[in-house]
Amino acid sequence: MRWPEIILGKKSAMILVLGVMGMLVFSVFWQGSTAVISHLEDRHIVMLDPGHGGYDPGAITSQGVYEKAINLQIAQKVKEMLRPSGIEVFLTREEDIDYVGNNVKGKTTRKQIDLNYRIDMAKEVKADIFVSLHVNATASGQNSGAETFYHYKSESGKGLAELIQQELIKIPGMNRRIAKPGDFYVIRNTSMPAVIVEVGYLSSATEQKKLQQSWYQEQLSRAIAKGIANYFM
Ligand SMILES: [Zn+2]
Repeated sequence: MRWPEIILGKKSAMILVLGVMGMLVFSVFWQGSTAVISHLEDRHIVMLDPGHGGYDPGAITSQGVYEKAINLQIAQKVKEMLRPSGIEVFLTREEDIDYVGNNVKGKTTRKQIDLNYRIDMAKEVKADIFVSLHVNATASGQNSGAETFYHYKSESGKGLAELIQQELIKIPGMNRRIAKPGDFYVIRNTSMPAVIVEVGYLSSATEQKKLQQSWYQEQLSRAIAKGIANYFM
């Protein structure tokens, strides 16, 4: 576009200068405000769920190691590691608690009330993804390694599970397991992509020791945090 060829008087020249200055100021503010808006649109929200808690210990070893404690320790580490990324992280619990009234009877009912409360928490904060953290156990004691599960009908859940599992298998000594489809209550009933990360087996004698040590928990947490960050990239 060419500049308009107009012969200007002093007064109109002044008006033109002021007008251009005004436009410059406006454009700076405009760009500033769009930058803020696009930043808000880019909000990424994660609900981390340290499995079990309170009345429900999860898996227990004969030495009295509780799954619920390890789940919480890892969740807190993942939250801390994601802090610099700007991804907002919420935890379904920050301490050893559950969400069931003492008067509620029935094992399944109690479990579902507890899980429904956590699912609602994720919906409330408009979480983009739900990541439930657990430690596995088997009677044989032969299995070991981390596994990530997604709901078999969820494509985005599968994508998230694969990204996390890809990072977990990079941990030295981790056996190769791929992300697996499942139909568990918490990944079936969440409205956003959801996964369950079983970070290892408490029933494995060697893994049980590592799972309690912070250097190993940090390796697991870093892998989970990386997988989550990759999902939003
Ligand atoms: Zn569990």
